Amino acid sequence: MNKHQILIVEDDIMVSNLMATTLEMGGYVYRTAKNGSEAIMEALSYKPDIMLLDLGLPDMSGVDIIRKVREWSNMPIIVVSARVETSDKVSALDAGADDYLTKPFSVDELLARIRVALRRVDADREKASAATSIYENGSLRIDYAAGCTYMDGKEIHLTPMEYKLLCLLAKNTGKVLSYNYILKEIWGGVNESDMASLRVFMTVLRRKIEGSSVDDTRYIQTHVGIGYRMLSHNS
Ligand code: CA
Repeated sequence: MNKHQILIVEDDIMVSNLMATTLEMGGYVYRTAKNGSEAIMEALSYKPDIMLLDLGLPDMSGVDIIRKVREWSNMPIIVVSARVETSDKVSALDAGADDYLTKPFSVDELLARIRVALRRVDADREKASAATSIYENGSLRIDYAAGCTYMDGKEIHLTPMEYKLLCLLAKNTGKVLSYNYILKEIWGGVNESDMASLRVFMTVLRRKIEGSSVDDTRYIQTHVGIGYRMLSHNS
């Protein structure tokens, strides 16, 4: 299972250690940052699923960190801060923090907030992967999850090998794929007999995809002596 990664941003070693221990017990993996610049760097390179953020850091205000991170990421940010003033809480939430926990916090409370944030992360990811599981290019549509191919809304029946070839081309739409590249990806190596098979499979696949208009290629372009390319019809 892919473990969720959490970034702890906290300059108080005692609090940071308590959080680290809590996360370890909860089965999470984590990294720590003890100031704002480290936090930004770790947020970029470690790509955590969640950030736990102290507002009072030596070099930067936590609110500025939230603003910076929000320029490129919508990862949940849970502010964990000793400040109880409502104004701090409001400016952190305004800047894009998702949740706010006041120190001293209970370990159970911290874990509960993390679970809530992670449910959001997982739900977002599921949505994103559902969106990327459909390929659309002009009238050609591939439903990767179902393993089905459609042209103008009508299902095209492909053999497993034709389907594999089509997916490979689709995933590299716009790029010319060399014979060798295709052979390595589909057959796992380059040899003469597979080369002959590739030509046969591609001829049949193109006939199924292009219909009667093989002469005027709309989707799968042949580059003689080089390879094949899926043309893009999406602007
Ligand atoms: Ca602090």
